[in-house]
Amino acid sequence: MNIGLPKEIKVKENRVALTPGGVGTLVRRGHTVTVEHGAGVGSGIADAEYVAAGAVMGTAAEAWAAQMVVKVKEPIEREYGYLRNDLLLFTYLHLAADRALTEALLKAGTTAIAYETVQVEDGSLPLLMPMSEVAGRLSVQAGAYHLQKPVGGRGVLLGGVPGVQAGHVVIVGGGVVGTNAAKMAMGLGAKVTVLDVSHRRLTYLDDVFFGKLTTMMSSEANIRALLPETDLLVGAVLIPGAKAPHLVTRDMLPLMQEGSVIVDVAVDQGGCVETIHATTHDDPTYLVDGVIHYGVANMPGAVPRTSTFALTNQTLPYALLLADHGLGALSRNKALSLGLNTHAGQLTYQGVADALGMDY
Ligand code: NAD
Repeated sequence: MNIGLPKEIKVKENRVALTPGGVGTLVRRGHTVTVEHGAGVGSGIADAEYVAAGAVMGTAAEAWAAQMVVKVKEPIEREYGYLRNDLLLFTYLHLAADRALTEALLKAGTTAIAYETVQVEDGSLPLLMPMSEVAGRLSVQAGAYHLQKPVGGRGVLLGGVPGVQAGHVVIVGGGVVGTNAAKMAMGLGAKVTVLDVSHRRLTYLDDVFFGKLTTMMSSEANIRALLPETDLLVGAVLIPGAKAPHLVTRDMLPLMQEGSVIVDVAVDQGGCVETIHATTHDDPTYLVDGVIHYGVANMPGAVPRTSTFALTNQTLPYALLLADHGLGALSRNKALSLGLNTHAGQLTYQGVADALGMDY
């Protein structure tokens, strides 16, 4: 199959959907990969590395002319012209929130497989997981930075020093983001408490961290009790398919110390802190009642090189299946078949149809 790798053109998107290693794997399997000039630059990957891996370099139009196009972000309006009915598109799409793109894909008759709805048997979403891992780890790095006095924080070093107590990191939600945040916070030497409503998750965390962090059932009373001693609060809750619940409400903020920090990673689902709103890497924080709020909705964008390699580790096996078998890959792999969102002018994913009030 001929596979196209266009450069991402969405503002501030520096990731790329295939690494030279991934291109090499496809080429060795007998496929052709057309890479747009400069596609990897934002992730520190030079054209020469793709060429060495066997890619053909070309223009955007040449990459998009391939049978299958592999991308990171959804096509933006400028790219709609490349959509066609014999194109297989494999990328993050998030169609439930994008009527214009859904209509463009249906009108063009494009077959589109969305990373975010590829789902394995236990219900987890393998192509979202790497970005949650990145965001969870970054949340503590960002929080530790914003706790510093020169940038308005309380002036607390999360690890403390001998003779001085460590900072307290409270993590609400102990899933992928929460577990990765806990790892980073513990690595820094902070005191860590994780709250979740799932006893199974709390048991897992207690087991893997040998009881060195505190686990608590997530409840309003427990959150209220923790806030006065919280230096960094990480919001990491997810209720699949729903908006995040507001677990830290406006009236609870005065319980927190001035200069303490909230990093609400769940901001992309509305946030689990009532006062959070989405911010950008250029202007990531704002104050409410003296508490620093960090609400960057695309945290992995800060570390595109790591994010590119993390994402492609997970997407490559599926891209290979599609390259080897075309649409036949869907009948061979249940998880991948759940990724199909549009085909031949039809919406093929119930959740998207429901969200947009369209036919399924
Ligand atoms: P996950 O499903 O692995 O974990 C969510 C956890 O929340 C689960 O363990 C669940 O039991 C727990 N939970 C549900 N209700 C709760 C409650 N009331 N109190 C405490 N815990 C509760 O999800 P994840 O992959 O860790 O993602 C978490 C959030 O981070 C999602 O909203 C996701 O979209 C978001 N995210 C944001 C970014 C970003 O850049 N901002 C990047 C990646 C992920």
